[in-house]
Amino acid sequence: MEHFLNIPVFKVITDIVEETGQPAFVIGGFVRDCLLNRPTKDIDVVVLGNGIELAKAVGKKMGNRPVNVFKNFGTAMVSLPDYEVEFVGARKESYRSNSRKPIVENGTLEDDQNRRDFTINALAISLNKESWGKLIDPFEGQNDLAKKILRTPLDPDITYSDDPLRMMRAIRFATQLSFKIEKKSLAAINRNAERIKIISQERVIDEFNKILLAPIPSVGLELLENTGLLKIIFPELQTLKGVEIKKGKAHKDNFLHTLQVVDNLAEKSSKLWLRWAALMHDIAKPPTKRFDDSTGWTFHGHEFLGSKMVPGIFRRLKLPMNQPMKYVQKLVLLHLRPIVLSQEDVTDSAVRRLLFDAGDDIDDLMMLCEADITSKNEEKVKRFLNNFQLVRQKLVEIEEKDAVRNFQPPVSGELIMETFGIGPGSEVGIIKNCIKEAILDGIIHNNFDEAYKLMLAKGKELGLKKTTE
Ligand code: ATP
Ligand code: MG
Repeated sequence: MEHFLNIPVFKVITDIVEETGQPAFVIGGFVRDCLLNRPTKDIDVVVLGNGIELAKAVGKKMGNRPVNVFKNFGTAMVSLPDYEVEFVGARKESYRSNSRKPIVENGTLEDDQNRRDFTINALAISLNKESWGKLIDPFEGQNDLAKKILRTPLDPDITYSDDPLRMMRAIRFATQLSFKIEKKSLAAINRNAERIKIISQERVIDEFNKILLAPIPSVGLELLENTGLLKIIFPELQTLKGVEIKKGKAHKDNFLHTLQVVDNLAEKSSKLWLRWAALMHDIAKPPTKRFDDSTGWTFHGHEFLGSKMVPGIFRRLKLPMNQPMKYVQKLVLLHLRPIVLSQEDVTDSAVRRLLFDAGDDIDDLMMLCEADITSKNEEKVKRFLNNFQLVRQKLVEIEEKDAVRNFQPPVSGELIMETFGIGPGSEVGIIKNCIKEAILDGIIHNNFDEAYKLMLAKGKELGLKKTTE
């Protein structure tokens, strides 16, 4: 155990608690992650006494480090160059049925371990002289670490009902660590799923995002679905599940497809919002689903409707409404465009339009589209990926030639007004748009001289007269 206690702050704590006579232990995530060989920056220390006092003493001894006190919680955080150390007094918690706020009293180390969510999160290590480095593991957490099992220290029905956020945490840890949730525990999550409603949306989505950021997000998304949590926290995603058959024709299960797309993407990128775009790219398939006798199942316009659904879902889930929402909305809207491109003869103007619409998000969009290929037919997959490679090549060529990725009008509105001696008005917009369209269609090149010429011609057509030389 010595090796990971070999950090200066632990020695300092030991010295201080030797003097105060209030034993202290490092506990929870730090111990778990060290035993799993996962690097961590957060250290939790529990003390049989006053956590805030201990934090202040440690902060002082470590060279007057800043100490953040959270009086309401009785905790304090010391920020060190490499670690954040949180101190809390050992506590005993008892819950009432209608709130997730427990009644809190001072307690023993055992009381404190009892209130922890999982056996693997209840491991503590002594920082006290006489037993320094000793692992205190009342619930066989070490065994569960080895067997990769998530198990609650107490009856899971009580654990999850007391604090329903723990259901999300169980699924999050299962996904992050590739652990199995014990059968009994899984059944308890099923029974208590409805209680997730008493948890604030911010905390639920925080766990959800951690699931989405895990190496294989589908593990958690499937668990959310199986336990009944998904239909409560994200019904639109739940609705993707299922297959309908008409006249012998089945469409694919869009939930499973979406999961596969998210997993594919997760192999290539750890950008949270790109993963969100993957999660939502087909979100409007259920409301746009139609059956046609000749063509079978169609989902016409699901990219448009999907992009329209994004703001409402983001607002409800308390996700950021600014840049991330707009980015997801844009990728959902554009997610079919490269596919259409790759199926036809790729014309320059179609590529220019895609570059213009996607802007700097073009690479992310291409990544999403490649992840969207989930056919089981290897030949098909190969062909699609090949086509996308051609689209990518074309994108680079066209961008080198025409620079429309961050399109800036080569002729400004001011110059148009000045040239024709007019004020702001519809003519300015008409001329600017005409220039933009001509560039995208490849009628003129993206440069000042050609744009200026076109401006003069279009102005003349609109009955405007040039007033400057
Ligand atoms: P990570 O830091 O990766 O999110 P963690 O296990 O350290 O994982 P924290 O939220 O930092 O999670 O909490 C630290 C410790 O506090 C946990 O290991 C666990 O012992 C305890 N804990 C946190 N949240 C809960 C909860 N909702 N119910 C019971 N114990 C909890
Ligand atoms: Mg932590």
